[in-house]
Amino acid sequence: MSPYLRPAVDAIPAYIAGKPPKHVPGLLSYKISSNENPYPTLPEIQEALITSLDEVNRYPDMHAVALSQALSERFSVSTDELALGTGSVGVLQQFVQATCDEAGEVIHAWRSFEAYPIVCAVNGAKSVATPLRADESHDLSAMLEAITPKTRLILICQPNNPTGVAVRDEELRQFIEQVPEEITIVLDEAYIEFATDPAIPDGIKLFHEYAEHENIAILRTFSKAYGLASLRVGFAIAAPRVAGALRKCAVPFGVSGMAQAAAIAALKCEPQLLKRVSEIKKERARVIAGLRTQGWSTPDSQGNFVWLRLGEATQAFSKECLEHGLSIRAYGDDGVRVTIGEAAANERFLEVAGMFLKEINKGK
Ligand SMILES: *Cc1c(COP(=O)(O)O)cnc(C)c1O
Repeated sequence: MSPYLRPAVDAIPAYIAGKPPKHVPGLLSYKISSNENPYPTLPEIQEALITSLDEVNRYPDMHAVALSQALSERFSVSTDELALGTGSVGVLQQFVQATCDEAGEVIHAWRSFEAYPIVCAVNGAKSVATPLRADESHDLSAMLEAITPKTRLILICQPNNPTGVAVRDEELRQFIEQVPEEITIVLDEAYIEFATDPAIPDGIKLFHEYAEHENIAILRTFSKAYGLASLRVGFAIAAPRVAGALRKCAVPFGVSGMAQAAAIAALKCEPQLLKRVSEIKKERARVIAGLRTQGWSTPDSQGNFVWLRLGEATQAFSKECLEHGLSIRAYGDDGVRVTIGEAAANERFLEVAGMFLKEINKGK
């Protein structure tokens, strides 16, 4: 006899970590597989971290008062409307815990963020995945049709990881109007700072506009645009009743003192960080233009990454990248997601993509 495990948890495939890029003599290698921010930590943030080291013997502020205050001012929300967690994935888990009981259902698109089905399984919820449309966007009509009396949450990955496509303002508003108000709609805006399409709404503005709808919640993170992935801090903006429930589900003292200090410092340095975000957006435009010139078709990504739907060539492409010192993210035989990194990494990626496409075309 072996110890009992919940079947839903036992069935989760073990996490397969991204392979480090192969060391190629004479070539710097780059990890462009995790949508990380390629810039080094700002000195102001490093200083805040160093100061916070004096108190690692103490528990952090459980209610993260100073960070909540800073977020409240930055986004014009009350602290009642905020809930923090260990990364936005931590907050996502709090959403599932706060809303799903007895096999509550969570609707999300697929392919989308890989954490969604896992967080559902771990927390006893049922993941209900609706396929993306052919243009790699969320199929909101299919999501509406998937609603049942057990639906508790709808996750919109805005823009979608890994395809980079975001739901446009008008369609999102129509959707919100049609979802019953007892179902919470979470806009996971992990990459929203990288969006450039003016038709893509700012979720926090929508949250304010739809103040009478208590079921609209926004999920944000310090991991991507703010460059604090290692520190694990994310937050939700939601109606006070929902945010209060999220706070109850948080791991006590989950957001460390270092994470709180760094996040506060990052908000103070926001102009500098957003300047880096604009540089990444410029690089993204250059990469997308380069790929299209080579003959690739790729959506207008609104995130800090690009998507190539390679089908059966997915694994071969990923291998080719590794051989050239690039680790990228391959998804079965769907496609690859490549993070916009340092200019040299992007340049190398374009070279590999160009060579690969020539090989494919030769074989035809
Ligand atoms: C990277 C990412 C997050 C952020 O996760 P953290 O836990 O905040 O680091 C959230 N949602 C999506 C879709 C992501 O890709």
